[in-house]
Amino acid sequence: MPKELKARIVKKSSRNWTNKHENFTQQVAGLYDVWNPSGSAHRQIEAYNATTQALCEFIGRAAKKGDRIRALGSAWSISNAAATDGRLVNTKPLNRLFRVTGSSISDDYNGDPDNLLFVQCGVSIGELNRFLRQQGKSLKTSGASNGQTIAGALSTGTHGSAIDTGAIQDFVKGLHLITGPNRHVWLERSSDPVTSPQLAERLGAEVIRDDDTFNAALVCFGSFGIIHGVLIETEELFLLEANRIKLPFDDDLQHVIQTLDFGRITLPEPEQRPYHFEVVINPHAKDGQAFSTVMYKKPFTQQADNRRKSSGGFQPGDDFLCVIGTLLDIAPAAIPAAVNNLIASQYQEYSGRIGTLGDIFSSTSIRGKATGAAMGVPLDEAGRALNIILEIHKRSRNFPGVIALRYVKKSDAVLAFTRFSPTCIIDLDAVDNRTAKNFSRGVWRAFNERNIPYTLHWGKANELTAESVRTIYGEDLEAWLKIRRSLLEEELRNTFSSPFTDQCGLSE
Ligand SMILES: Cc1cc2nc3c(=O)[nH]c(=O)nc-3n(C[C@H](O)[C@H](O)[C@H](O)COP(=O)(O)OP(=O)(O)OC[C@H]3O[C@@H](n4cnc5c(N)ncnc54)[C@H](O)[C@@H]3O)c2cc1C
Repeated sequence: MPKELKARIVKKSSRNWTNKHENFTQQVAGLYDVWNPSGSAHRQIEAYNATTQALCEFIGRAAKKGDRIRALGSAWSISNAAATDGRLVNTKPLNRLFRVTGSSISDDYNGDPDNLLFVQCGVSIGELNRFLRQQGKSLKTSGASNGQTIAGALSTGTHGSAIDTGAIQDFVKGLHLITGPNRHVWLERSSDPVTSPQLAERLGAEVIRDDDTFNAALVCFGSFGIIHGVLIETEELFLLEANRIKLPFDDDLQHVIQTLDFGRITLPEPEQRPYHFEVVINPHAKDGQAFSTVMYKKPFTQQADNRRKSSGGFQPGDDFLCVIGTLLDIAPAAIPAAVNNLIASQYQEYSGRIGTLGDIFSSTSIRGKATGAAMGVPLDEAGRALNIILEIHKRSRNFPGVIALRYVKKSDAVLAFTRFSPTCIIDLDAVDNRTAKNFSRGVWRAFNERNIPYTLHWGKANELTAESVRTIYGEDLEAWLKIRRSLLEEELRNTFSSPFTDQCGLSE
């Protein structure tokens, strides 16, 4: 008779908790690590189910005491989306991967079953990239860095700048969600069937096949329960050929910024639509130039992969949020020179660098204390929004950071901040100090006054309120709250609320 498998949930501390980027500290009732049963390598599903059981029991104990619960990924969020005054559950140790094959796949699934992967919530984007590379597969997109967990990344709507692809939640096909002490559900869209009833049966989960419920649960920053497993759709391994070029910040570039019509600028491969297009503007630059990072998708070839290895691969530092914190919190007068020096040392032009998605978006380390606010605006408002930001900068000239523009296809997730078709995301990446905060506040105020429709990244610096969330999401907010009520009874709605959801009017 095999030994019963038991997952462990271990209390680590009951003190203050600080996010990875050290933007804030929160007093918690307890920080807990969740561990799959040990020695269970040959009993994968049984071990996974034992962890589901442990999480259900944990929710039951917390709810009974009236403690709130928040699942924690890699703690990379700069906002307090992952924080709680209750029990913080670190899901990062939950990092198993399962193939979904044969009878677990719906006859109506019209994709390639080899592209499906069932991922436990704590698997990081970096781990996924490494695993998929060995299988000859790739994620469709990721953020610029790779330290987030899959559940944490999808829950705030993490995105890159793959202009015709979506954000991370957009390649998710199924969610295994633990909603209470006695309930865990398998969520899938009815319009996009992927699994057969057998998969949910093996997990012991109740099945909900409903587009509205699935789309509401995708971006919900832990408010619907604990996501234990995520079914993702990957694709054949591909290469990206990356170039970073300097371009005059003139009318032609401004035209591209608000149209993604590339005809008026000279790109490395004018006949091919880029996979990735990004513009970085150093507001302190004196040369009137901007940087553009342009990447083209290419079929994978071993030869190109070897070339990458022999040239030493890509260096970290592509993501400003990772490096901007190396600037010290200095006097305002010294800021322009410091930002210019950082750009000169970290952000050079290059051409024809080849690598897989995982090679290119590979930075896991975070240096220094940085902050980032990200506003989503409709493409055709991107030029106007950028000019407002530059006008504000002209008045003070002390923004301790850079401005980046990225582009993402509209998401189906009800509360995705990439809700415009397509969305231009304007990143304000800066040293985390009062000047940067005031700058972002000034930008949000000006957008309100000048009627720029905009959203804010849930996981980045924001000062969202119930009123602003209602203004942004309107009827979609009502739909999201209704679905949350239908999934969670009142006591559990309280369990899965937090200071962040209270502040955003999302705890009801
Ligand atoms: C250096 C750096 C670079 C970044 N680059 C980008 C970028 O390029 N693009 C971009 O869009 N964002 C970027 N971000 C923001 C980041 O991707 C998001 O904040 C992301 O949500 C963080 O993932 P995480 O695993 O750390 O989750 P956490 O920050 O730990 O949690 C995020 C949310 O997910 C919830 N959550 C986590 N795990 C679970 C679970 N198992 N079940 C239910 N809910 C869960 C949490 O409660 C929380 O609300 C960056 C952040 C940093 C620090």
